[in-house]
Amino acid sequence: MSLPGGPELLIVLVVVMLLFGAKRLPQLARSMGQAGKEFKTGLKEGHVDQPVEGPCPFCKIEVPADSKFCPGCARSADDIVAEKERLVAEQKSQKSA
Ligand SMILES: [Zn+2]
Repeated sequence: MSLPGGPELLIVLVVVMLLFGAKRLPQLARSMGQAGKEFKTGLKEGHVDQPVEGPCPFCKIEVPADSKFCPGCARSADDIVAEKERLVAEQKSQKSA
């Protein structure tokens, strides 16, 4: 027994085409893509992005919506959102404990 090489792979492809029909292959690929997308959506479910606006978790200075940086400590919006999410997760784990 040897690993399948080029010719065997071609035969497998032809068999797959015969089984599903060449026309349905793009559909198959599309539905597989959709399944992947839904899987990612499912992973994100329950995960709500925190808005950047509100008090900065680092310096407590009010951050306006759509800010790229905190006006108080100059941390990036990404840092602020990440810290807010960390705090929310911390609160959740404290409640469940
Ligand atoms: Zn700040």
